[in-house]
Order: sequence, then structure tokens, then C-alpha cells
Amino acid sequence: MARRRTGPTEVVRQLVHSRDGGQCVRCAAGHGLTIHHRVNRGMGGAQEEWINQSHNLLLVCTVCNSWFEDHPRESYENGWKVRRPQLPGEVEVLYPDGRLYVLDPEGVRRSTIEPAGAGR
Ligand SMILES: [Zn+2]
Repeated sequence: MARRRTGPTEVVRQLVHSRDGGQCVRCAAGHGLTIHHRVNRGMGGAQEEWINQSHNLLLVCTVCNSWFEDHPRESYENGWKVRRPQLPGEVEVLYPDGRLYVLDPEGVRRSTIEPAGAGR
């Protein structure tokens, strides 16, 4: 029997990397990058199908990945972490450009505010 997969596929990793512009979503570092789960994988047992989909994942540097664990309040406020029963597609994420984005499972992020001067 094959070993159970516990992380995102290579395809999803590439999706997250390009969506987030190859830089950490918190500090914009372009090195030491890893994939962060917004909703933590549960301990043992069942795993929701969206756990390893791109809207639950962020490209972050290892420094910020540890920072999230040390600063849960700020991390939840900025959408870098999501608390069950909220779903990752329902919570906006703050990016280094200062805007909030909604992520979807197809690897797209949409700004939730109008840029200044756009529209009418
Ligand atoms: Zn960082």
C-alpha cells in the first residue's frame, strides 16, 4: 500500500508559488520559502479535501512560518491563519502590497477593494 500523501501535490505547490509572485506573503522575502497551511492539518485521522488546495496555502519564508505560530492573534486577523470552522475561501489574506485578497482553489487571488482611481 502506498504511503499516504500528507502535503500538497507538486502542481499545487507551483500554483501557490506563481500566485504569490515567488515571495513571502508577509515580508516579501524571495528566499527560504516554504508552503504554509492556513488551516492546520488535523492531528491524525481524517483530512478535508481542501486542506492541500491552493486557497488554504500560502507561500511564506521560514521566518514568517515560525512567526505565525508565535503570533496567532495577528495571524488570524490578517488571514494568514484561519480558525475552524471558517473555511480558507471565506477569509481575506493581507499581502505585502497592503491589500486584502480572497483566494480560490484554482490558484487565483482577487483584491476585495477597488484600487484608487479605478471604476467610477
Ligand atoms: Zn517572510
